[in-house]
Amino acid sequence: SEEAMIRSEKLSLIGQLAAGIAHDIRNPLTSLKGFVHLLKAKNADYVDVMMEELEHINYVVNEFMTLAKPHLSYYLESNPRELVRSVIAFLQPHAHLYNVQIQMDMDQDIPAIYCIPDQIKQVLINILKNAIESMGNGGVIQLSVRNVLNQRLIICVEDQGVGISEDKLTQLGEPFFTTKTNGTGLGLMVCKRIIHGHNGDLTIQSKINHGTKVQIELPIKK
Ligand code: ADP
Ligand code: MG
Repeated sequence: SEEAMIRSEKLSLIGQLAAGIAHDIRNPLTSLKGFVHLLKAKNADYVDVMMEELEHINYVVNEFMTLAKPHLSYYLESNPRELVRSVIAFLQPHAHLYNVQIQMDMDQDIPAIYCIPDQIKQVLINILKNAIESMGNGGVIQLSVRNVLNQRLIICVEDQGVGISEDKLTQLGEPFFTTKTNGTGLGLMVCKRIIHGHNGDLTIQSKINHGTKVQIELPIKK
């Protein structure tokens, strides 16, 4: 549709802008950090606040960088089992902090996929982070990996978190849509871009106060 066209043009424009903006912000940021360290000796309180703000900018820039990266990365034959394992290991401290347990259930016959491994890892990290952050009192995340008829790989992340209302569900993945005080609203947008770039699909189902289910579908290497 016309609307979808305009949307996808907007998104690719954002991707191109992101590359430029990210590089323009990076250099002064690095220089600022250096000077802030020098200042610290004189006024530690102000400097702590400044450092926090700088870290936040840094985080936003890193998320933007993911948008700019595709041109620098290569498709490789990859083992989904290893991708998932390394992501879970990486997120263990974050999960622990939120009192969250990640349970994994993987089919025996998971074949290789053809992908940009760092990008798929980034997707899994973003989605698992959202799931962890949705459970204020802790809980369990179910992560399943399925081989559907040797055609499609399905990775499903299901949480028992706050969920999201039906009217907001359609806004997920729009740039800058966030309900978090320190959120960027870029995580899901990056995920969708990456998965669509891999000829896959990402769908989200949610029930408020019950939880959210994010499903990633990727083609299996032939
Ligand atoms: P951010 O995490 O920085 O807010 P995202 O793009 O990752 O940005 O997510 C956008 C919004 O989607 C979140 O602020 C939240 O409202 C909603 N969301 C995403 N994942 C979940 C989830 N698992 N449970 C509940 N809400 C979610
Ligand atoms: Mg997020």
